[in-house]
Amino acid sequence: MKQSIHPEYKPVEVRCACGATWKTKSTKKELHLEICSKCHPFFTGQQKLVDTEGRVERFTKKYGKVTVETRRKQEIERQKKKSLSH
Ligand SMILES: [Zn+2]
Repeated sequence: MKQSIHPEYKPVEVRCACGATWKTKSTKKELHLEICSKCHPFFTGQQKLVDTEGRVERFTKKYGKVTVETRRKQEIERQKKKSLSH
């Protein structure tokens, strides 16, 4: 006689990287997700975990506050060097 080959579904707690937890049923003892309906931009309309903010931060760290003023000065300096080299 064959035993039941169907895996047993048990209530498990799903845990997402954003900290959200909820109950579901699975053959696994526990579930870990990196993204869920609560933090996924498709569902929330926001970008909490997507690294766009981090990119902006890195950019400003690398280049500092480059204002229009400083850019204009840099351009003037460049023009001066050009005229001097001739
Ligand atoms: Zn999540």
